Amino acid sequence: MRTVNSLPIMGRRLVEWLNRTLAWAMPGHCCFCLGGTLGDKPWCERCFIELPWHTSACPLCSEPRPSSVLADMPCGHCLKQRPDFDRSWVPFLYEDNIASLIQRFKFNADRRAGQILLQLMVQAFRSHQGPCHVQAIVTADLHPGRARKRGFDQTLWLGKRMARALDLPLYQATRRRLTPTQRGLSRPARKRNVRRVYQVTSPLPAQVLLLDDVMTTGATLEALSSACREQGAAHVTAAALARTPAGHAI
Ligand SMILES: [Zn+2]
Ligand SMILES: [Zn+2]
Repeated sequence: MRTVNSLPIMGRRLVEWLNRTLAWAMPGHCCFCLGGTLGDKPWCERCFIELPWHTSACPLCSEPRPSSVLADMPCGHCLKQRPDFDRSWVPFLYEDNIASLIQRFKFNADRRAGQILLQLMVQAFRSHQGPCHVQAIVTADLHPGRARKRGFDQTLWLGKRMARALDLPLYQATRRRLTPTQRGLSRPARKRNVRRVYQVTSPLPAQVLLLDDVMTTGATLEALSSACREQGAAHVTAAALARTPAGHAI
């Protein structure tokens, strides 16, 4: 009975999987819908416009909020306690096609998904949405156990290519100690968990861009920011591919 009932579901899943795989594997076709692409980009105009662009955010921590709030007004959390970094830049919300790409990239080590995310990030940066006067990119090394489990360090992979595309030097912060995963922890617990966890071993230029894959409360980026301040960074921008609302850990 179970086998017979599950056949239509399995059939649907197979068709969905085939569509996704075809879209993935066919150059010259949109990676999301298989339609015609936009110039040399792997996406079509409609899918690009329909991506979950993060257009209304707290300027300091990028917490999503209604578009009716004034753009320069920090959120309640930041008014109470400013983050260690000066501002943040996160072009996407962690939803829809962006969430699928990040999951493929982060949890399945899918470089093709990483390449598309990189192209989207560089395009967003160059089209005047990115912060100006950045002199270096800084990433944090992944917990060695998690890097081994996933097969690669996705933030370093992205950081190296983003630095090359924007012609900027890349610095990598290292860990002073191992920490439990941030998943499922409250905002204060996340902060405590990563406090003074990173160190940068060489002097930095004044204006740096910190890069992470997903920003949830910003606790990791704050810890990274204070490590950068110790090495001379005066203006720190925290950047990530996508933002989840605080408390919605992935
Ligand atoms: Zn498309
Ligand atoms: Zn905020």
